[in-house]
Formats: sequence, C-alpha cells, structure tokens
Amino acid sequence: MPAYDRSRTEPDRPEAIVVGAGLAGLACARRLAEAGRRVVVLEAGDGVGGRVRSDRVDGFTLDRGFQVALTSYPELAAQLDLEALELRRFDPGALVFTGRRCWRVGDPLRRPGDALASALAPIGTPADKARLALLLLRLRRTDPRTLLRQPDRTTAAAIEALGFTSLLTERFLRPLFGGIQLDPALTTSSRMFSVILRALATGYGAVPAAGMGAIPAQLATALPAGTVRLGCRVLAVEPGAARTAGGDRLEARYVVVATDGPVAAGLLGLPPVASRPATSVWFAAAAPPAAGRRIVLDGTGAGPAHNVAVLSNVAPEYAPSGHTLVVAACPGAARPDVAPDVQAQLRRWWGPAVDGWRHLRTDVVDHAQPGSSPPFSPRRPVALGEGLFVCGDHRDTPSIQGALFSGRRCADAVLAALAASA
Ligand SMILES: Cc1cc2nc3c(=O)[nH]c(=O)nc-3n(C[C@H](O)[C@H](O)[C@H](O)COP(=O)(O)OP(=O)(O)OC[C@H]3O[C@@H](n4cnc5c(N)ncnc54)[C@H](O)[C@@H]3O)c2cc1C
Repeated sequence: MPAYDRSRTEPDRPEAIVVGAGLAGLACARRLAEAGRRVVVLEAGDGVGGRVRSDRVDGFTLDRGFQVALTSYPELAAQLDLEALELRRFDPGALVFTGRRCWRVGDPLRRPGDALASALAPIGTPADKARLALLLLRLRRTDPRTLLRQPDRTTAAAIEALGFTSLLTERFLRPLFGGIQLDPALTTSSRMFSVILRALATGYGAVPAAGMGAIPAQLATALPAGTVRLGCRVLAVEPGAARTAGGDRLEARYVVVATDGPVAAGLLGLPPVASRPATSVWFAAAAPPAAGRRIVLDGTGAGPAHNVAVLSNVAPEYAPSGHTLVVAACPGAARPDVAPDVQAQLRRWWGPAVDGWRHLRTDVVDHAQPGSSPPFSPRRPVALGEGLFVCGDHRDTPSIQGALFSGRRCADAVLAALAASA
C-alpha cells in the first residue's frame, strides 16, 4: 500500500476535504498540506491519478489512454521533480503518412536537418510552409496568457483565416490538432490551438520512464500518510461537509470538488460540462514499424487512428527488452471494438508485419477532456461561496497543465479564505 494511503488513522478534523485524487485534487491537497493545513482527499477509484494512470500488462506499461506531457507546461517544472520522473522525449515534428509512404516533417528553426525533408514533404504548398514557419516564430515570442485573451473562434476558422490550404489542414494540422485536442472536427477554441502550437514549438512531448501514472504518484507521495482515502465515492457535498457512498458524513470548513467536470457539475449544481471522448489501442510488435521518436500522423484522413506512436522507441522502459509497444489514438471517438480496424489501417502503412501484432488493450475514455468551444475562457472561478471550491481541467485549460494549475490556484484561494477567517 503506498505511503499516502498507508495509515487509516484519522487526522484531527480536517480543515479541507478534497474530492478526487486526479492531478488537480493532488496538486491542491499538496499545496494545502505544505502550508501546514489538515487536508483529506476522498477518491472514488482504487488508485490516484484519475485520467492519468498506468498499468503493467504482460510486462508492458500501458497508460489509461495515450497521452503525453508537454515539457513547456509551466506547472510541470513548478510542481514536480522532473529529474525523478526521468522524462523520455519525443522528437519534435512528425512523420506523416500520405497514402504511399511516411514523410518527415519538422521545424527547421529547431532542427535545421529537417529543412530539406520538410520542404519536400507533400503536406502543403511552399506558401503554407512559409506561413507555418512565420506563425511558429510569432507564437514563440508571445506569452501564452496573451494568446488566451486573443479573439476566439473555432480552430478550423482560425486555420482558414491564417490562409492555410486544405492540403496542409488535412494532411498535417487536422491529424495533429485533432489528436491533441481530441477533436478531429477542429471545433475547439482557437485560443487553445495557439497555446498548444506554441507549447509544441517551444518544448517536447514526453512521458515518464515509469508511465504517465508516475506524475500523480509523485504528487501523492509528498502528502502526509493517510491523507488519501481510496475507494471513497462522494455522493453529495454541502457547505462544511461531504457525504460518501459508504454512508459517512465528513465535516471540514472547506470542501474542494476536484472531480472531472461532469461529476463536479452534478455535485455542485454548475452548468453542464461537455465531454470529448478518446480511444487508444495498444499493440505488442516483434519489431518497430518505424525508426525514430516522432509521432506518426494519418495524413490521409481515412482513420480510424489519427496519430500513432512507437512508444518503446521513445521510452524503452514501456516494453520488455526486445519488444516493441505501439499505441494508436482515435481521438473524439468512443469505440471499444476499433482494434481490428486500426490494425487494418496500420497494415496499409507498414505492410503485412502488422498482422503479427498482438492486441494488448483498448482504452475508451468517454470524458477524456472537457469541451473548449469558443468563446473559451480559462481561469473560471474556483471559489463558489459558503466554503465550497472547485478545481480541475474544466476550470482552466483542458490539459495536464490546466489540471495542475487549477489545483494550485484553488489551494491558494482556500488558503486565502483560511487566513481571512483566522
Ligand atoms: C486519452 C486521454 C488523452 C489525453 N491526452 C492529453 C495530452 O496528451 N496532454 C494533456 O495535457 N492532457 C491530456 N489529457 C487530459 C488530461 O489527462 C486531463 O486534463 C487531466 O488529467 C485532468 O485532471 P483532473 O484532476 O482535472 O481530473 P481527473 O483526472 O478526472 O480526476 C478526477 C478524480 O476524481 C475522482 N472522482 C470522480 N468522481 C468522484 C466522486 N464522486 N467521489 C470521489 N472521487 C471522484 C476520479 O476517480 C478522479 O481520480 C488526456 C486525457 C485522456 C483521458
């Protein structure tokens, strides 16, 4: 049993109850605990991490849905010991499958060696590529907070207004952003499009050597023993108390709801939160189908997978020695039966060797990210009055960064309330 759950001894009556041990709840609880406040975390699941968890399956590490942390997320460095996480980085850029072969595409400003390959790749006109380079240059120089305040519209409308052709959109931008924002229709906020493109241009996608679940595990380990109570589903909250499915009524001056958006909306009577689903299919292969550590994009639009990673090329620890782990992401879809279609698709990319791949698992997450349609406003209020607080990716940006930031911001609001009432 991990240390944070080792002791079942009750702390003195907590000053704050946090409902949910995802990244937001853990970040919030840790900040409160570090400020010397008594806090208890009630988690419905059998482990911490929420949407960021990892499992061992036949010697492979499988995250519960393919996802990556972007090293340019400011909250990663602010809240985590990155060295201890042993981040394994993707190479910037991508391989794009266009129907015949995979083309290498990269940002020549970061990797001059990619310039020629990118110029030759049939993923857009020369004008598209020049426009993209200029956009990346501009975004690099702009503070993300400014980008989150710019006029908002859908990502598709912003791409069109930027003058990109449908060739670049369909072969590159849609599979890339549809994959990251779990929204192949590109209906999400152009503010998020700019922020993510900037994050990609200034950092790297990365996974911890031990799996994405190492991120919440590190946050939880920093909590005093006994802080997190697993298997404890909260059915109702009210000012000063939370009622659990086990029939307990726990009291505390402040209650923070750190569940996903739809559950938080139900518990707190907030407006409904839209859901973007995602399906990830994991395969064991005898050998890597592609070399290198780049994400592979479906530039044909045929799907069902929009992007694919040979994850053991990036993080060899994810697979037993001599084995290969491939994950295919079907963003925006909840399809438990999609594995055969994905395997048929990847056979078209990489040939008959794909027939020998072993399907390890399919993860379907109905609420993978909250919707962020325009007009999208990050930094939604976390203090709801009467001692009730809320945090999670639905209060800030729909991402690991947003969840961590939201938890920290919410803890600061609770600390301010505690200080004001002292
Ligand atoms: C497949 C997939 C791909 C993704 N890709 C990326 C990516 O590449 N990059 C990125 O930045 N982000 C990505 N995300 C989004 C990111 O994982 C989330 O934004 C983030 O983890 C949300 O954290 P959270 O703490 O707000 O919510 P959650 O992780 O949902 O945590 C909420 C917690 O509350 C618990 N809970 C719920 N109801 C109750 C209850 N009634 N009582 C007690 N506990 C309860 C849950 O069990 C859970 O542990 C992806 C997500 C998925 C699923």
